[in-house]
Amino acid sequence: MTYDKNNIFAKILRGEIPCKKIYEDEYVLAFHDINPQKKVHALVIPKGSYVNLDDFSSKASEKEIVGLIKGISNVAQKLGLSEVVKGEGYRSLANIGKNGGQEVPHLHFHIFGGERVGKMVS
Ligand code: AMP
Repeated sequence: MTYDKNNIFAKILRGEIPCKKIYEDEYVLAFHDINPQKKVHALVIPKGSYVNLDDFSSKASEKEIVGLIKGISNVAQKLGLSEVVKGEGYRSLANIGKNGGQEVPHLHFHIFGGERVGKMVS
């Protein structure tokens, strides 16, 4: 699986284009989606260069894997969506490949919330 260093999220990670940052740590960067599909729509991306979840799960270190999962939860808490902080819940998902509808070839988890998200798949 070849990683395209010029994908839009790689450019955001390098600071070449701006983002509306929500959270950042050693392992992840989170920012608001440019074209929100729900009242709250955030993206959480690993800092390492991984095309998708399969690439990540086969190549990332255990620390990176833990860092990403914890990062998703931290962002949901920071946005007030998580039940841990008395929010009303949210959905997190990753699109993978053509049938998954993935447009940007850098692994990212979407976080949708702030309202009822609706059916699982439409
Ligand atoms: P996916 O279809 O899962 O690859 O989702 C890609 C997401 O990235 C879409 O929801 C886009 O709206 C979002 N997106 C694309 N470019 C940017 C950008 N420059 N800043 C923030 N979000 C973006």
